[in-house]
Amino acid sequence: MAAQVSRAGRSAPQEQAGTPSHHCSFLHLSAGTANPIMPDAPSGSMDLNRLPILPLGDPGLRKQSIPVRDPADPAVKADAYRLLGVFRAFRNAYGYGAGIAAPQIGLLRRIIIIDQDTGPLIMVNPEVLPLHDRQTCFWESCMCFPDLMVMTRRAAEIAVNYRSLDGKMSAIREISPDTAAVIRHEVDHLDGILHVDRAVDSRGIISRKAYGKDPAYFSRLCQEWNRPGLSGGG
Ligand SMILES: [Zn+2]
Repeated sequence: MAAQVSRAGRSAPQEQAGTPSHHCSFLHLSAGTANPIMPDAPSGSMDLNRLPILPLGDPGLRKQSIPVRDPADPAVKADAYRLLGVFRAFRNAYGYGAGIAAPQIGLLRRIIIIDQDTGPLIMVNPEVLPLHDRQTCFWESCMCFPDLMVMTRRAAEIAVNYRSLDGKMSAIREISPDTAAVIRHEVDHLDGILHVDRAVDSRGIISRKAYGKDPAYFSRLCQEWNRPGLSGGG
């Protein structure tokens, strides 16, 4: 699950150094909101340990999920709604959360859900198609270990093909870089890949608490990393 993504890169020239780059389209928080993606504490009383979310280190997070043969099978719908229930519980408790993938709750099925506060979108057997070589730097966190922030580099322009729960083929072609990052984060889960595997370098793994103290500084790190010739980004 991508608890949230913040972005800093050449694709966002409007971002100014020193200005927190809270491009959290998944949270739909307006720019300028003080520290919008970094709540100090869960807003509810939900104990993460009570949710059936696998923690970092659980071997289940490293397994390959299998494609769903019949998305319209009622059992698939039941799995998807169970996943959605956990997703909503996390969002209600923590006040953020952009997406979740079935293996995060031990279901090795290729199902993901994203939610940009416009309602959950359930994708079965999602396939990511990079449209361009350009990549953008992001700060991501994950529901499986939400206290960690990881700076990653991902393709900024993608398309996604998937099936909906009625079995129909669907596609998304115009996707914002933030949304693309979340979808790729979730699809990575289906292949046993975590965002720590995508960290751009050792500076790119930090605590949420450290990030929250100076998000503008960490945003600038992303911008620097994206600069050609410095760290190979872009
Ligand atoms: Zn995750």
